[in-house]
Amino acid sequence: MKARMIALLVFVSALLLGGCGQQPTVQKTEMVMDTVATLSATGTDSVAAVTEGLKRLKDLEAMASPSIEGSDVDKLTAAAGNGEWVQLHPEIYHMLEVSQQYSRLTDGAWDVTTGPLVQLWSIGTDQARVPSVTEIAQAKALVGWQNLELQPETQSARLLKPGMSLDFGGIAKGMALDEVRKIYEKHGIKDGLINLGSSSIYALGRNSKGHEWRIGIRHPRSEDKDATLAVVPISDQALSTSGDYERFFEQDGQRYHHIINPHTGAPAWTGAMGDTIVIDGSVEDAGMLSDLLTTAVFVLGPEKGQAFMEQLPEGVTGMIVDQQKKLHPVRGFEGQLTDRNEEFPIE
Ligand code: AMP
Ligand code: MG
Repeated sequence: MKARMIALLVFVSALLLGGCGQQPTVQKTEMVMDTVATLSATGTDSVAAVTEGLKRLKDLEAMASPSIEGSDVDKLTAAAGNGEWVQLHPEIYHMLEVSQQYSRLTDGAWDVTTGPLVQLWSIGTDQARVPSVTEIAQAKALVGWQNLELQPETQSARLLKPGMSLDFGGIAKGMALDEVRKIYEKHGIKDGLINLGSSSIYALGRNSKGHEWRIGIRHPRSEDKDATLAVVPISDQALSTSGDYERFFEQDGQRYHHIINPHTGAPAWTGAMGDTIVIDGSVEDAGMLSDLLTTAVFVLGPEKGQAFMEQLPEGVTGMIVDQQKKLHPVRGFEGQLTDRNEEFPIE
């Protein structure tokens, strides 16, 4: 799906005194990477950290967006099938390396080459529609992580078939969390929140009341956008969510949503309604993994997804909500939930 170029919009820009030991807290919100990004930080260098963090998000968007001419993705897609290697920014190369590793581990449930299918369905845009079986077969023939080659020595990549394309919609925001977090670290920020569209969040330290950050997980079926399924308190952790309620349309009683099963070429109807993953900041690439994994685990479905998560490094926890609204927690995650809505019992 083409990411829209959105003009810079500043909703909130606040400088407050408060938080820990009267250090200044700053919060800014802008539209970037196709989402509402809100960065807040407390510390003597908080203004610089937030300003530089937002700048970094714009730079990353310019590298990762398929609709920005000259982005790494644009170059890779343009060169698809012609045999040439395309040199990438180190952040993008690293993202592709991790992505390929998880495509292998999930047997292709996670696949950044789903671009042609994402474009075909166009879910979340005015062009969204149910394609024909033939169209799905044609797009599927252009999907396959095995046809994305990486060359570590030159930090380059190439797509082997003409017509192939990449889609970072399920991973780029998570990668951006890690990048902004590095900027916060450089500026000595210990307390803050990096919130990218509420679906990918990194929480540092404590909130202004000196407590863990309380992240509400959206109720997957309520019309009320503020209704929650549960609240997860986090500190120095990344949290991501995915679900069939984020972008979808309904036709003949079927919900067509934006998470694609690369094996069928259609939305992943594998029994999940949503999932949430929390990863300790000590795990490498915590933000990127949380984003990638929510999408991958959603495609795997409740049982396979739960089993897959159990074998991931310690520090990775979470839960899957199935279509019957039952929660499937991983590594005792139910113990981390507060204010759980009783409509969602634990399996
Ligand atoms: P998320 O909301 O993080 O689950 O990401 C969903 C987005 O990831 C979609 O809008 C697509 O851009 C992309 N996507 C969909 N299905 C897949 C998949 N199986 N593997 C990788 N990316 C996907
Ligand atoms: Mg994701």
